[in-house]
Amino acid sequence: MLIVMSPEASADQIDAVCRRVRELGFTPNKIPGAGRTAIGITGNPGPVPPELFAHLPGVSECVRVTKPYKLVSRETKKEPTIIDIRNEKIGDGSLQIVAGPCSVESRDQIMKCAEVVQQSGAKFLRGGAFKPRTSPYLFQGLKDEGLKLLDEVKRNFDLRIVTEALNTETLDAVAQVADVIQIGARNMQNFTLLQAAGATKKAIVLKRGMSATLQELFLAGEYVLAQGNYNLILCERGIRTFETMTRNTFDLSAVVMMKHHTHLPVAADPSHGVGIDWAVPALAKASVMAGADVIMMEMHPDPARAMSDGQQSLDFPAYLKLAKELAELQKWKAGN
Ligand code: PEP
Ligand code: MN
Repeated sequence: MLIVMSPEASADQIDAVCRRVRELGFTPNKIPGAGRTAIGITGNPGPVPPELFAHLPGVSECVRVTKPYKLVSRETKKEPTIIDIRNEKIGDGSLQIVAGPCSVESRDQIMKCAEVVQQSGAKFLRGGAFKPRTSPYLFQGLKDEGLKLLDEVKRNFDLRIVTEALNTETLDAVAQVADVIQIGARNMQNFTLLQAAGATKKAIVLKRGMSATLQELFLAGEYVLAQGNYNLILCERGIRTFETMTRNTFDLSAVVMMKHHTHLPVAADPSHGVGIDWAVPALAKASVMAGADVIMMEMHPDPARAMSDGQQSLDFPAYLKLAKELAELQKWKAGN
């Protein structure tokens, strides 16, 4: 159920409706809107009769939400969510590039990457300090030392930091440095982490689990929004299928579906999606045309020596070429 308040509704009237929702044993979720406030009701096991709220002062209408996911749904919030991260907007129709290495490996490596990312005009640098690796014998990231290096990048470049929080124990340390907290594919359904990350009120990029349906992704997103945190970006990063020629199957249709069914900004990560460096540019461009607000990609000064995901990381010339092509494509798209 969605309670749409009239544009003239007072703060007291909105609070009174929220109180009534709580009295009935449900949870009210205030949904930020341009002209008016809406209140999404969660925690109800079944349909809630609209008559319970329709007569309350300031209520304009009560709308039944039919999807199992509510807060992320476009049924609940028609206008797109725009996230402002230190004056860079995500979801306003512009294209943001998030680029950097898979892992922060050394000061020299991350500074070189930061220089090239800044040179390309991108405003976001990615890099994992805490790495979720399938094998415990592989490089697990520089951890706190990696965060320190990312903090140095943040202080010395006009770049916003995207880095992964692997667990609740290290979340606070990550949140101090990250402008955008990444929740990785392997943690998409770590509900405790989603709630804790949501509670930081920081922007979050939530990557689709490798075998997750879009509905499962959207429901995972609900955990973040239910914390009153609407700064969520959904990310397609490839799913597991029978295909073996690519690392994952990059699901471009997911980008279209996420844009259609939710109000949230959408990121596409063709690097993990395909897992092969030369295949990244074509899929990055296709993602822009499919409606992605963000392209996230891995690059490295020397991909052959990367400590993780070198096979899918672009070298600097390839990255710079692609960043330029994406900017041109975005310009063309905006004019058409
Ligand atoms: C990454 O971004 O480096 C990463 C580990 O991604 P994913 O969670 O999508 O595998
Ligand atoms: Mn990676």
